[in-house]
Amino acid sequence: MFDFNISYAILGLARSGIAAAYKIKELGGNAYLSDIQSEEHIENAEELKKDFECEFGGHTNKLFQFEQWIVSPGIPLNIPVIQKAKQLGIPLISEIEFGYQIKSPDSKIIAVTGSNGKSTTVSLIQHILKNMGYNSILAGNIGNALTSYPVEKPGIDFIVLELSSFQLDLIDTFRPNLAILLNITPDHMDRYDSFQNYIDSKFRIFMNQTPEDTAVICLDSKPIAERQNHIKAQLLRYSLEKTPPDCEAWLNQDAIQIGVKHKLPVRDLKLRGPHNYANAMAALLAVNDLTHNLDAAMETAKTFLPLPHRLEFVAEINGIAFYNDSKATNTDSVKSALSAFDQPVRIIMGGSDKGEDFSLLTPILEKTTKKVYLTGATADKMYEIWKDELPAEKIEDFEQCIRKAFYDSVPGDIILLSPACASFDKFKNYEERGEVFKHIVNSIAREYEKE
Ligand code: ADP
Repeated sequence: MFDFNISYAILGLARSGIAAAYKIKELGGNAYLSDIQSEEHIENAEELKKDFECEFGGHTNKLFQFEQWIVSPGIPLNIPVIQKAKQLGIPLISEIEFGYQIKSPDSKIIAVTGSNGKSTTVSLIQHILKNMGYNSILAGNIGNALTSYPVEKPGIDFIVLELSSFQLDLIDTFRPNLAILLNITPDHMDRYDSFQNYIDSKFRIFMNQTPEDTAVICLDSKPIAERQNHIKAQLLRYSLEKTPPDCEAWLNQDAIQIGVKHKLPVRDLKLRGPHNYANAMAALLAVNDLTHNLDAAMETAKTFLPLPHRLEFVAEINGIAFYNDSKATNTDSVKSALSAFDQPVRIIMGGSDKGEDFSLLTPILEKTTKKVYLTGATADKMYEIWKDELPAEKIEDFEQCIRKAFYDSVPGDIILLSPACASFDKFKNYEERGEVFKHIVNSIAREYEKE
C-alpha cells in the first residue's frame, strides 16, 4: 500500500527512477529528483522539471530532508552521500522494493537472479505463462521498469522480475512467491569488496521468504549448493550433473526430466547449449510450481526463440558460421558459449574491464578454440595472459579483428564474438556491440557473394 505521508527522493534518473517518480505522482504523493549528470545529459529533463522538483549535476544536502530514498541500481553504495544517508538512518530502497510495497496483493512474484542466464530465463517464463493464457508482466532489469506497470491494481496474475545484485542490495520487505537463483560466478568485482559480498547480495532474493514460498536453485553452482540450507522456502533443485533424489529436474540422456512422467527432449528446444537446458529446467520448475500444468509448460517452451546477442546465429559464409554472443560480459558466460559447440571455434574477445581473472578461461580455450582474437580495452591484459599458451592475436580495430578471424578460417570453423567484458570501451552497450558485429558480418557476406 502506498503511504501519502512519506516524502520521497529519487537518486538516479534512468528508466526505473523516472518510472518510480511518476508512479508516486500518479498515486498522489511527492518526489524530489536528483542526478549527478548535468541537465543536458538527462533525457526528458525539461519535462521532468515541469512535473517534479529536481536537482541536476550533483546530489545536494537538500536530499537529507526526505524520508525515503529510492536509489538507482547504477549508483555505487560507497559514495559519500549514500554513506551519510545510511549513518542518518534514512531508508534506502530500490525501485523493485518500492514496486513490491505498492503492488496489489493478488499478483504473484517470480523473481530471477544469477550471474548469467537471467534474461533468457525470465523471457522463457514470460513466454510460457503468456502462452498458457495468464496475464503476466516482465519487468526489472529487462524491458520496462516494474513501476511503469499498473502493479497497484488487481488483475495481474504474475510479475516476472529479472533482478541484478544491485537491485537486491536495496530490498527490505521484498518477498517473492517464487525465487530462482541460477548460478553465482565472479562478476561485478569492480563494485563488490569480495566474492563473498557478491554471493550474499544474490542470496538476498531469499531473505524474506518463508516455507510458504518456493526457491528454485541450481545445484551445479558451488556457492549455491553450499548455502542451500540458508534458504527457508520450499526448495526445488535442478542439475545438469546430478539425478534424483538430489534434485527435482535433471538431464536424462538428451532430455530434461521433471518428476517421473515429464520429459522434454532438448532437440525440441530452439535454445542451444547445456547452460540453456539448465535455464529451461529452472523456468519449467517455476511454472509448474505455480500453475501445476507441466504438460502445457513443456509444450510452449518448445516455441521460445533465443534472445538476440546470446549465442545468436548471424550467418554462414563459405561454411564458416558466425555467432553473436555480445551479452557474454563475464568469463562464465564465455565458458558456456564454448561448451555449446562441437566444432573448432575462433573467438573474438575483449572490451572494458570488470576486474575478472581471465586466466580462468585458459583450460577451456585450450580445449575448444583454434585461435583467440583480442580487441578493445582489455586486449593487452588478455594478450599477456595467453600469448605463450594459445594462438592469440591483438587487433585494435573491431572490424579488422572480425575480418582477420574470417580470413584465417576454413569451412567448418565457428567465429564467435563472446567478449568476457563489458562494452563501454567502444560501444554504448552490449546491444550496440552485437549490432555492429552483425552489420560487419553481413557486409562480409555481401562482399563474398559478389566475388
Ligand atoms: P543475464 O541476463 O544474466 O546477463 P542472459 O540470458 O542475457 O543472462 O545471458 C548472458 C550471457 O550468459 C550470454 O552470453 C548467454 O549465452 C550466457 N548464459 C545464459 N545462461 C547461462 C547459464 N545458465 N550459465 C552460464 N552462462 C549463461
